[in-house]
Amino acid sequence: MDRIGEPVVVREVPDPTPPAGGVVVRVHATGLCRSDWHAWAGHDDVALPHVPGHELAGVVAEVGTGVERWAVGDRVTVPFVCGCGRCSYCRSGDAQVCPRQQQPGFTHWGSFAELVALHAADTNLVAVPDGVSFAAAASLGCRFATAFRALTGRARLEAGEWLTVVGAGGVGLSAVMIAKALGAHVVAVDRHQVALDAARALGADRVLLADDVPSADRPVDDVASADRPVDDVPSGGRPTEGAPEDGVPADGQPGSDVAARVHELTGGGSHVAVDAVGSERTCVDAVLSLRRRGRHVQVGLLPPVAGHPRVPMDRVIGWELDLLGSHGMAAADYPAMLALIASGALRPQRLIERVVGLDEAAALLPGFDRASPAGMTMIDPLRG
Ligand SMILES: [Zn+2]
Ligand SMILES: [Zn+2]
Repeated sequence: MDRIGEPVVVREVPDPTPPAGGVVVRVHATGLCRSDWHAWAGHDDVALPHVPGHELAGVVAEVGTGVERWAVGDRVTVPFVCGCGRCSYCRSGDAQVCPRQQQPGFTHWGSFAELVALHAADTNLVAVPDGVSFAAAASLGCRFATAFRALTGRARLEAGEWLTVVGAGGVGLSAVMIAKALGAHVVAVDRHQVALDAARALGADRVLLADDVPSADRPVDDVASADRPVDDVPSGGRPTEGAPEDGVPADGQPGSDVAARVHELTGGGSHVAVDAVGSERTCVDAVLSLRRRGRHVQVGLLPPVAGHPRVPMDRVIGWELDLLGSHGMAAADYPAMLALIASGALRPQRLIERVVGLDEAAALLPGFDRASPAGMTMIDPLRG
């Protein structure tokens, strides 16, 4: 990236060198994520020229001074948030909120490349088990691990509870898969039928198609609120007319139609909701879809440049809702997730829709906010 918001090119640049305490990794797989689009669009403070890319897996190619746990040839992945390894947060296992964190592809050059430098290797690298492919491992670093932590570490989703996932892209589909593995019931909401089909294939119990009418005050990536239920109103389900519970829908609130439909489908609202898109509308849809004492997790990014969302805090107070943020997952928390992957209980490789080379990725990036692939796009930098 030479300029914000302009075409991205693939060209030769100098090889990175490992920082003290860090490594250089030869990239075997790296995911194309909407966060990369945010950086391309100028929503993050990146120094130009810039190399994006933050979901990666590969092999350690060079080791810097002071690294104790890693050697050349190790198969590794890394969370998109790399902690400093020295502060109190990192030492207590919460590197995902380290005040001195580094993020490849944002704070320094990332993994849309053959080689990438990573900081504080002993804190941040995660060994990739032999049975897990590089592509599957790369898919963990941002969206899958974020969804995993959002549901387990933050919302503490339990078997038998209802989860509403607003936005069935990479992180949303990850949440569907993880929630089903946890024994929860899932409502997936999206404005693309293909995304809902993917959610259904991963086990979503109910799907809601939101409409797609653009409007001046709404970014095109929003999940719109005027849903058209395309799918199974449960047999013996509730009548569709009338508000399913007092206070729903809330007049004048954006998102009230999706919320009303979720309340119908779930018999009074979901226990946990995730906004996996990141917009005022999807955030409000998610919050209002909750039942009393429900837990909302904000995963989709809401960059301040788009304005702060108007969240219905009256509902948050009156219904004692929990509003939770989730910011990736520290390397220290990976073993539990990797064990579920190794056992086959979780199959992140099913979320990979396509594998492309760097040239094709460069062409895809500028339009990635409105692309609707049913799953993740993975880049193989060694591919032509
Ligand atoms: Zn730290
Ligand atoms: Zn990402």
